[in-house]
Amino acid sequence: MTIIALRSLSIRWPGQADPVLSIDTFDLGTKENVFLRGPSGSGKSTLLSAIAGVIDVPEGSVRVAGTDVGKLVGGERDRFRVDHLGIIFQDFNLLPWLSALENTLLPCRYSARRRKSAGPDTKATATRLLAELGLSDSKLINRPANALSVGQQQRVAAARALIGSPDIVLADEPTSALDEEAKDAFIQLLLKECTASGASLLFVSHDRSLEKYFDRSIDLLKLNSWNA
Ligand code: ADP
Ligand code: MG
Repeated sequence: MTIIALRSLSIRWPGQADPVLSIDTFDLGTKENVFLRGPSGSGKSTLLSAIAGVIDVPEGSVRVAGTDVGKLVGGERDRFRVDHLGIIFQDFNLLPWLSALENTLLPCRYSARRRKSAGPDTKATATRLLAELGLSDSKLINRPANALSVGQQQRVAAARALIGSPDIVLADEPTSALDEEAKDAFIQLLLKECTASGASLLFVSHDRSLEKYFDRSIDLLKLNSWNA
């Protein structure tokens, strides 16, 4: 089963003659975890934005969980995104004034599907996820996100992505602020939680030391047929 299918994709930034990405075919399987590597500026974040429906893709098609994301209009895309995707951003994008626990619960607030999957007591689910990711201190999880260390914020970002069993977790270089040991521990936890919730994982990074943990590793420079 395929959960993400990209076909004949061409992405151009406004005002630029050449596409930043041309991708003929890319498939991510259900429950598969894939490492997508590429140097800085190679289009990794652009590709995740296209999959998440954050940017328009006028050429080609982006199918996520059976839906053509390009055909969704207005608020449909935002609803689809929160229903089906958990996203870990490079800079985490936590709401700084909300606590770790409240940040984790955000997808349940905006998506009935995620709320339902998280079970009758969403707060208990969030607390369990945070604990599994290494944040079990009740004082800590009630602290505002901006009073947490980078490593702690990253775990909150992961818990928020995972809550309510999204079909796919997209992770955009979430380990760039961590030292080697913390990186490895984080990836292993993330993979374990994705497996437990049945989510596919698309993890992008320039750091090849991490690819050994994944089912498959793909070089974006090879996937991208635009070699200008
Ligand atoms: P990566 O995540 O692999 O570092 P990006 O996807 O951020 O790469 O960027 C790929 C290319 O697209 C770069 O040349 C970058 O300058 C360009 N780019 C990224 N975002 C924008 C934007 N919002 N507007 C115009 N060009 C952009
Ligand atoms: Mg990037």
